[in-house]
Amino acid sequence: MTPVPFLDLKTQYSGLRGEIEPAVLSVLASGQYALGPEVTAFEEEFAHYCGSRAAVACNSGTSALHLALLAAGVGPGDEVITIPMTFVATVAAIRYVGATPVFVDVCEDTWTLDPEKLAVAITSRTKAIMPVHLHGLIADMQPILDIAKENGIVVIEDAAQAHGAEYNGRRAGSMGAIGCFSFYPGKNLGACGEGGILVSDDDEAIASARKMRDWGQSQKYHHDLPGFNYRMDAIQGAVLRIKLRHIDAWTEARRSIAALYDSHFSDTGIQTPVKSNASRHVYHVYAIVVSERQNVVARLNEVGIGNGIHYPIPVHLQKAHADLGHGDGDFPVSERLANSFLSLPIYPEMPAEHVETVVSAVLQDR
Ligand SMILES: *Cc1c(COP(=O)(O)O)cnc(C)c1O
Repeated sequence: MTPVPFLDLKTQYSGLRGEIEPAVLSVLASGQYALGPEVTAFEEEFAHYCGSRAAVACNSGTSALHLALLAAGVGPGDEVITIPMTFVATVAAIRYVGATPVFVDVCEDTWTLDPEKLAVAITSRTKAIMPVHLHGLIADMQPILDIAKENGIVVIEDAAQAHGAEYNGRRAGSMGAIGCFSFYPGKNLGACGEGGILVSDDDEAIASARKMRDWGQSQKYHHDLPGFNYRMDAIQGAVLRIKLRHIDAWTEARRSIAALYDSHFSDTGIQTPVKSNASRHVYHVYAIVVSERQNVVARLNEVGIGNGIHYPIPVHLQKAHADLGHGDGDFPVSERLANSFLSLPIYPEMPAEHVETVVSAVLQDR
């Protein structure tokens, strides 16, 4: 049987080679390697893509989250609400600014922040809510935005997995005060290296994030704010501008693969990603919920089918964050998902026949 990779960045590159190589060579010849015109143009194009006023490109999604929290004025003594079923970077960024992460569990069906559990988590110290659009599905933003507004709390979207996802006609990143994205190579929009960006309609947040990204400078060697070296490479700006022109077609391809998986898994009792009319899922990850996961994983590995778990340990149970004082049973939905999530291969260029191969391997012995 032909092996099925989990994702395939080489195939995408070979299709874009004719566009990417001249663009990269022209950056190399320009002598401008950090920030510069390609990065500025990408910021404008990406902000427009999200339906946001402006963007600040940086060197990773984690840096974007860090800058967003600082630009929103989050600091020591503040609490930031997020979910434990996320990549650790969400929580790491909250801790970088000295704030305390406060977890709210996810919903059984959407796997994103449960708005019904949000109100009780708010205290006088809550400064921000950071919903995560896990796997490419936007969290249920309306109730989150309503609760935040009532309480004077800022919303920062972790949209690292959700480029182009939509919720009631609005794009990921454009609903909160600030939205953050990652361009890690495996993300739906991936650089040829590391990258990230934040988008916002708030001119002040944009201006301070822009300064802090480059050592807090208003002009060379005039440091108005404590800052960081979070600049985006010019080469990544050039590559991302090209890839941005293809993202909608890639998303459609991901959605077709997901629809095929959905149809094969219907009536099997296997839980698949939730579908809703209000939301356009971009399937960064296609996860199913399986019991006896280790048997299924062993079978997939045996026949060479790529697979993953996003994520096997919720952040509240990670050793790195043990000082937050959480334990087993604190966030039962996240814990159950961590034990039963299984991510299947999905990428825009994935041949449809591979979906059947994967599905029959998953369903064998049933
Ligand atoms: C990838 C990711 C990040 C971090 O992005 P980097 O570019 O790797 O720093 C943050 N949050 C989530 C949910 C992610 O998936």
